[in-house]
Amino acid sequence: MFNPVSFRHVLEVWNAEEHLACMRSVLRDMESALGLEGAIVHDVPVLKVFPNASYAALWEDRWEEGHGVCQWTERGASAPSTHVHAPHGVGKVKVAGWVDLPRLLDALQALWAREGNVVHRRWERADGLPHGVDLLVDCRGVGATKELADGGVKVQPNHGDVLTLETPMFKGGLDTSGCNINHNAWLLPLGEVGGRMRWRLGATYGWNRLSWDPLPESEEFLLHRMAGAFHGPGLEEFRRAQVVAHEAGLRPASPDRRPMVGPWPGQPEGLAMINGLGTRGVLVGAAAALNLARWWLDGADLPTEVDPRRFRGFKK
Ligand SMILES: Cc1cc2nc3c(=O)[nH]c(=O)nc-3n(C[C@H](O)[C@H](O)[C@H](O)COP(=O)(O)OP(=O)(O)OC[C@H]3O[C@@H](n4cnc5c(N)ncnc54)[C@H](O)[C@@H]3O)c2cc1C
Repeated sequence: MFNPVSFRHVLEVWNAEEHLACMRSVLRDMESALGLEGAIVHDVPVLKVFPNASYAALWEDRWEEGHGVCQWTERGASAPSTHVHAPHGVGKVKVAGWVDLPRLLDALQALWAREGNVVHRRWERADGLPHGVDLLVDCRGVGATKELADGGVKVQPNHGDVLTLETPMFKGGLDTSGCNINHNAWLLPLGEVGGRMRWRLGATYGWNRLSWDPLPESEEFLLHRMAGAFHGPGLEEFRRAQVVAHEAGLRPASPDRRPMVGPWPGQPEGLAMINGLGTRGVLVGAAAALNLARWWLDGADLPTEVDPRRFRGFKK
């Protein structure tokens, strides 16, 4: 998902405008190059359920202040669906959505395979720069944690679980007014699949868990948290949802929650990295890649905020 608004203090996330524009333009180009127009980026607004009156007042304050965050949002209102339980109202983020990354990756891989440019292999730092390669970009995420730590760069794994749910499509089925509901968790409508409505429900955050496996208790935890966003027939419909998948992953976070783009610590020129995309790879990834390309190809400076040399421990 992408969402330019941080709900904690109702503020824009870091570089929201630039990152959103870059993400959209790169993905639009990819969609058209791959013949997948409209199939990768899906615009779905987020409805933030206000947890209490003071949060509703904070949302309203942003409008009174004429705050920049309001370009992405609408004023607080009552819930647009009777299924949604929002006694203090809701705030809509109108510029948000999700990206079909599995479909994009499959299509890119098929394209590059046709061109003979895909090689599947592991890579470790000790492998260095393969023969004939000018630039190697290490994008191993959490897979690079140990080796990067030796170079003074910290990748902090954060474990997360998500569920895929299905509900009946017929009239009276769970109605979120076409929005992603955010309330202690989020519930994103993905669309119709085989005559049923498919949803993604997430996510958990765990700093001390290094396993890639889903945590069984997360299922109950997420269902319980989300149930609070519904009442009456909405709650009945939500409770009828069938869990069809439970998946997990490790987010590669950096200590200051900014990506790490540029040289690999203690390694010769030609070894580079993009890491630290954390919880926001979708929104930040395209801009991070552009920073790397401009640095390597055009000799542009890396923005200090993303340059891994900003960390004091970075091994020269
Ligand atoms: C539950 C959950 C929900 C999330 N939701 C969102 C969301 O809604 N929006 C968002 O923007 N972000 C979200 N994220 C975060 C997002 O997944 C990350 O930002 C993103 O995946 C980071 O991308 P990456 O390519 O740097 O690393 P990864 O996606 O982790 O990819 C690293 C790749 O490197 C490979 N690899 C590892 N070691 C080696 C090796 N030695 N040799 C070769 N290959 C190797 C791995 O197999 C993997 O394919 C979520 C994460 C989780 C866990």
